[in-house]
Amino acid sequence: MGLDIEANKKLVEDILEAYPDKAKKDRKKHFQINTEETKESCSCSLKSNIKSRPGVMTPRGCSYAGSKGVVWGPIKDMVHISHGPVGCGQYSWGTRRNYANGTLGIDNFTAMQITSDFQETDIVFGGDKKLEIICREIKEMFPLAKGISVQSECPVGLIGDDIEAVSKKMTKELEMPIVPVRCEGFRGVSQSLGHHIANDAIRDFVMGKADLAETGPYDVNIIGDYNIGGDAWASRILLEEMGLRVIAQWSGDGTLNELEIAHKAKMNLIHCHRSMNYMVDHMEKAYGIPWMEYNFFGPSKTYESLRAIAAKFDATIQENCEKVIAKYKPQMDAIIGKYRPRLEGKKVMLLIGGLRSRHTIGAYEDLGMEIVATGYEFAHKDDYERTFPDMQTGSIIMDDPTAYELEELAQKMNIDLMGSGVKEKYVYHKMGIPFRQMHSWDYSGPYHGFDGFKIFAKDMDMTVNNPVWNLFDKKEKVQPEGASV
Ligand code: SF4
Repeated sequence: MGLDIEANKKLVEDILEAYPDKAKKDRKKHFQINTEETKESCSCSLKSNIKSRPGVMTPRGCSYAGSKGVVWGPIKDMVHISHGPVGCGQYSWGTRRNYANGTLGIDNFTAMQITSDFQETDIVFGGDKKLEIICREIKEMFPLAKGISVQSECPVGLIGDDIEAVSKKMTKELEMPIVPVRCEGFRGVSQSLGHHIANDAIRDFVMGKADLAETGPYDVNIIGDYNIGGDAWASRILLEEMGLRVIAQWSGDGTLNELEIAHKAKMNLIHCHRSMNYMVDHMEKAYGIPWMEYNFFGPSKTYESLRAIAAKFDATIQENCEKVIAKYKPQMDAIIGKYRPRLEGKKVMLLIGGLRSRHTIGAYEDLGMEIVATGYEFAHKDDYERTFPDMQTGSIIMDDPTAYELEELAQKMNIDLMGSGVKEKYVYHKMGIPFRQMHSWDYSGPYHGFDGFKIFAKDMDMTVNNPVWNLFDKKEKVQPEGASV
């Protein structure tokens, strides 16, 4: 199986023709067509993790989104202050579906928008005094909050505020951790540096600060699962059914205590390598905790991952693992039996963040679907190296693709399904192309684990085979008038 390598090279070149010379030359470096050689050697010449070109409608976000939105925001028993003007906190309020148990406003603050709401006077005179007052107010209003994080928005770093000094002072005064995070949106080139900064803040202010009364040989951490639509819960039950004890979930449905005791685990299981590889590396060096990547998207990858995880433990866990697989396999076979005939051979294009663009491939393939192009917003070279082997030859791999490039590719490749984000969704609907949100799961999910696959398969079928697409004239769908540049 494979796609036409030369034809797809030409396709990309033709699309880039619309740009001025400099932009064309630059954007060309962000595309690579998978070949037998790149599949095997994972050699990646594609440019990644560099600045976006101005004015091309990048799908990227900022460092604040990577820190507050992704890593810190899901820690449910801490209050996260969006420190700066009102916009960033307001737009990121409740939009990422990192589910968490608890009572909102009492012991769970994930779906609240707490901001220092900077005014001109704060820019002119500085916001440090205001930050102190807010910390005191939080302690008074939310007595069950276990800590506070200060998530810096752009102006904080530009006006020279010293949030570290304020945090130190207030940690003492309020007797709880106040964590300063320097995730101003102008830092770095995307969400990615925000992950790194957030990881370092965990390391510097929280890691190793608490003890665990009892430890055991099967203690593990789930690292880099943000529990979107309940994903981490659907993963955790499998690990626990296998006999492992999950002592911390980072950070979906996570708590401050789980950040503080994670160094007591025997093994770190990392789902999202991009956003939390810094922490597992650190825990390996500082505490000797080994880590391994796993993938709970679709039954094939889940079986493979469960076995790989079990192989790191003893015969008891390995036997349990086979029992778990034997229990769920008939259910998974039935799901594949039902949906595969409806989805077989459908062509999919993906553009997601830093993990799912490769991690979900197996789940689509379990349903007989074919990924013809995939791209990341903010992946690094090591992510691309992991992507090439999972993609078929001739498929297109792209970095930080612009809105124009994606729309042209989707039409010219005549895809059957696009998986991307909310900014993209309605454009594709209007082009008559079935679309699934692969960040928010389109308000569905979970998609992880065996429970998740049942929902994933149903959702893909519901979208691809929805009768609404028959209302579009096929010709009109592929080449709508005026859609090409
Ligand atoms: S770039 Fe700056 S202003 Fe924009 S969302 Fe990020 S932190 Fe806020």
